[in-house]
Amino acid sequence: MWWARRRRPGKTDPARQVLGMAIPFLVLGGVLLATGPRALVPYLFLVAGVLLAWGLLLRLRQGKPAESAFDSSQHRNTSMLGSQLDSRAGDLLPEPSNRNLRPPAGVWTMQVLRDIEWRRFETVCTMLFAQVGLEARSESHGAEDGIDIWLYSQHAEGPAALVRCRHWLDKPVSTQDVREFHTLMTRHKLLRGTYATSGKFKPQARELAKSSGINAMDGLGLLALISQRTPQQKKELLSIAYEGEYWRPTCGLCGRKMAERRASRRGKTYWGCVDAPNCAFTLPVRKPS
Ligand SMILES: [Zn+2]
Repeated sequence: MWWARRRRPGKTDPARQVLGMAIPFLVLGGVLLATGPRALVPYLFLVAGVLLAWGLLLRLRQGKPAESAFDSSQHRNTSMLGSQLDSRAGDLLPEPSNRNLRPPAGVWTMQVLRDIEWRRFETVCTMLFAQVGLEARSESHGAEDGIDIWLYSQHAEGPAALVRCRHWLDKPVSTQDVREFHTLMTRHKLLRGTYATSGKFKPQARELAKSSGINAMDGLGLLALISQRTPQQKKELLSIAYEGEYWRPTCGLCGRKMAERRASRRGKTYWGCVDAPNCAFTLPVRKPS
């Protein structure tokens, strides 16, 4: 799984390095004090003392005790959209800094897609394609990989069409993404498919989709489809979109709502699971748009 990628081990702690450098000076000073010429001893102890003070200062600035060194082999973390975050449980922030304080949109516009978190987007997509008239069965693949919605017709055995929905506001759909989707369609002998994203398609990806019988639906395309629904259906979709803490992301591993955390006093904030460190799923904090 994409989130199972492990953190590269051995990111060295500078404080520990400096403290380690003091050891040879201390040992040599001790040996000379006991056995040999003592003229150098004060200088050796002085250097060791400076290194120890420097190391301790670095340690204090990091704001963590030495025994909390992170064991990478026991944890997993995510690299969604290229952001690498530490998966240990950082400090909980009292109020999420990126919480979108603007009021919910009254009608379907791009603001709704930007306001809602990934799991809510998937729920809205599933509802939308169920409203189109076919029986919809969805299969979620997590925050990054989106959801596949299999559409069944009463008149045919097996799925009649497939819809892939991805909440990718900041990352365009590539030709590789379209190719993977087409492979899945072919494997299930499907001639019709829709690739929906809350963001955009790369121009070549859009062309490939067209020549492969795939309906490439970007954020505006999704809004156009929603605009064809009845007023009642649009209202239903909007109330589902904005129910509860629509802005707070869901954990991709355990399904609980996440909490904003900060790795250290000056560190970057990120979304961490409320069950951290037992659940190590993280997501980057997106800038409010
Ligand atoms: Zn979790």
